[in-house]
Amino acid sequence: MKIVVCIKQVPDTKGGVKFNPDGTLDRSAMMAIMNPDDKAGLEAALRLKDQYGAEVTVLTMGLPKAEEVLREALAMGADKGILVTDRVLGGADTWATSQTIAGALRNLEYDLIITGRQAIDGDTAQVGPQISEHLDIPVISYAQNLKVEGDSVIVERQYDDRYHVLKAKMPCLVTALAELNEPRYMTPGGIFDAYDAEITVWGRKDLKDVEDSNLGLKGSPTQIAKASDKVRKGAGEKVALDPAESVDYIMDKLLTKHVI
Ligand SMILES: Cc1cc2nc3c(=O)[nH]c(=O)nc-3n(C[C@H](O)[C@H](O)[C@H](O)COP(=O)(O)OP(=O)(O)OC[C@H]3O[C@@H](n4cnc5c(N)ncnc54)[C@H](O)[C@@H]3O)c2cc1C
Repeated sequence: MKIVVCIKQVPDTKGGVKFNPDGTLDRSAMMAIMNPDDKAGLEAALRLKDQYGAEVTVLTMGLPKAEEVLREALAMGADKGILVTDRVLGGADTWATSQTIAGALRNLEYDLIITGRQAIDGDTAQVGPQISEHLDIPVISYAQNLKVEGDSVIVERQYDDRYHVLKAKMPCLVTALAELNEPRYMTPGGIFDAYDAEITVWGRKDLKDVEDSNLGLKGSPTQIAKASDKVRKGAGEKVALDPAESVDYIMDKLLTKHVI
């Protein structure tokens, strides 16, 4: 079985998102990490490797620095890493990103493609399903559990207060939730090997069956007009009253503000 996991290097948003004055993300002010959903997807692939001896390839599109997440994935146990990087691919929206990744995937053999459900920076959750459309293969999104039986994948798909169990014949694409599993740590031996491992680097000329008009900023139908941090709430108010007085106080506030 051959599995390709698409992983994105994203800014760690735990400490808050920082923006440049022009509204673009200030990536240099934040640590870069492997997108959490993608890490769970990678762990799912590695478990299939443990179980069935699957070959796991990790693929990322980004700046040359994105090679870091590929090495991290190799240190966790992935077999091959592919970095898709080229100036003409910069500024891509989800459409151009998925076109690029599909163009790269057309060079590979795969039974299963795993992406994260969504990236914590762009947050659109569009890229996985779009890739499946471009490659004309089925997609199952929001996987909270995944197993392989014969030539099919069986996925528990999260759905509000319940889950659906769906089965798809491979080749297919699954989008993974971070809740899917607890990703393993890199091993010390894995880190040494990953440091020396060869990463395959592809550029525009290596993408198969993709028009220039679908790539990079020029091929992106959407552009971010403005992005900003959430407006912070005011500091609130602390009062020390007994319970009965508190109720009167709160009711009075709600009436004054026309909430009730
Ligand atoms: C704040 C902000 C808002 C944005 N809003 C929009 C918008 O509204 N519309 C729009 O078209 N674009 C938007 N973008 C751009 C968009 O984030 C990029 O095009 C991005 O590369 C793909 O979209 P995503 O991050 O939302 O991916 P998602 O669709 O959320 O990612 C799903 C999965 O696809 C895979 N994947 C995504 N990108 C890559 C990659 N580069 N390499 C490997 N795997 C990948 C990963 O497995 C990931 O978990 C926005 C970007 C930012 C920073």
